[in-house]
Amino acid sequence: MALTNNPMAEPYKIKMVEPLKITTKEYREKAVKEAGYNTFLLRSEDVYIDLLTDSGTNAMSENQWAGLMLGDEAYAGSKNYYVLEEAMHECFGYKHLVPAHQGRGAEQLVSKALIKPGQYVPGNMYFTTTREHQELAGGKFRDVIIDEAHDPYALLPFKGNVDLNKFEDLIKEVGAKNIAYITVGVTVNMAGGQPVSMANIKAVSKMAHENGIKVVLDATRAMENAYFIKTREEGYANKSVKEILREMCSYTDAATCSGKKDFHTNIGGFAACNDDDMATAMRSMVVVYEGLQTYGGMAGRDMEAMARGMLEACQDHVMAHRIAQSEYLGNKLIKAGIPCIQPIGGHGVFVDARKFYPNVPQEQYVAQSLAADLYVHSGVRAMERGIVSAGRNHETGEENKPKLETIRLTIPRRVYTQSHFDVVADAVIDLYRERDKAKGLKMVYEPKYLRFFQARFEKLP
Ligand SMILES: *Cc1c(COP(=O)(O)O)cnc(C)c1O
Repeated sequence: MALTNNPMAEPYKIKMVEPLKITTKEYREKAVKEAGYNTFLLRSEDVYIDLLTDSGTNAMSENQWAGLMLGDEAYAGSKNYYVLEEAMHECFGYKHLVPAHQGRGAEQLVSKALIKPGQYVPGNMYFTTTREHQELAGGKFRDVIIDEAHDPYALLPFKGNVDLNKFEDLIKEVGAKNIAYITVGVTVNMAGGQPVSMANIKAVSKMAHENGIKVVLDATRAMENAYFIKTREEGYANKSVKEILREMCSYTDAATCSGKKDFHTNIGGFAACNDDDMATAMRSMVVVYEGLQTYGGMAGRDMEAMARGMLEACQDHVMAHRIAQSEYLGNKLIKAGIPCIQPIGGHGVFVDARKFYPNVPQEQYVAQSLAADLYVHSGVRAMERGIVSAGRNHETGEENKPKLETIRLTIPRRVYTQSHFDVVADAVIDLYRERDKAKGLKMVYEPKYLRFFQARFEKLP
């Protein structure tokens, strides 16, 4: 139940504050040039409102901070591991827990445990690190999301759904034994935080299991997804976020999860599964890549904070507030005529850069350029989610050209207030008025993996 009839009203109060630095436009022009027009390469202290990501940027509660003091920093068998295991059982319900330092650590374990080189790995749109680990393990990614997910303006309640026909066609085309597993991302980050319905998860699970294919949930944002099911899918209005989450997981065999998102923590993650052999395979690898199977790269105190954050986040009113903040910012922009991916998703607002800057072509990194301009204009930091993030095709070396070319205004949990969102909205609206002045970029340094993190650009004349 919501605490008030206005979910936007914070269900917490502020105990400690972090001062923000105010800079001038000239200062920011210099800073972004030095950062190679890549907002990932800016210094955080030069940013006024940081909407780069909601990953690890969350404000912990007093209960989580108190938990840090109970860190049991034993190398093996830390008591905080068992607290985390219990919280995972309560929220997600999988049999086995394998902790990891963050989501991609878990993705490496699952990819290496399940993929034989040459096998296909279908998924409902890609996520950067997920696909990278699948490909590094020898897998071939295939997008099986519904077509509407690639259309910024298709108004569907569950725009992250798997297209069952595409999944079935892939099974027919390559044969079930050549499919390692199917990844179901909930919500779909790259599609704008769009949710997947329970009916769809159930149907995917049925089709996969009838063909002997495992279903791996990317559960990083699964609590947000559960809230969307509660508010949008028939039959779930009276169920709690936690009950819905447990039901979602019950149709799947395993999960990877970044603890840096829904759990209100700054670091952490895990893999989970029901199959004993898969758990053994992952535990034999976790000691090589992450740490012992009872800490997986986290300190004992991190595991405690993550366990407490997980239980907090799973409350209905916490998720209601989270989604209300995204919708508040999104609706303000839409009202002002800013082209945004709709419906507004769970973790932020995705501005359609192609429409925002129609005179800059995708090959000139239009969204990258928009993110840099927004920073110079206002000190607000966003992230590119377009051609730079999509990287290159590993076989042909060609740039992947996604239909969605966006900047993401991502909302860290419990960090910013309504007036901050007003400042962000005003900045975006103001920049839109100057869109005729927009220029493209050229890439002058391209890293080999996950290029969006470290690539450098120069402004075209
Ligand atoms: C952040 C994220 C990941 C990767 O997690 P990290 O903790 O950043 O390694 C995987 N999937 C989704 C959907 C994410 O949002």
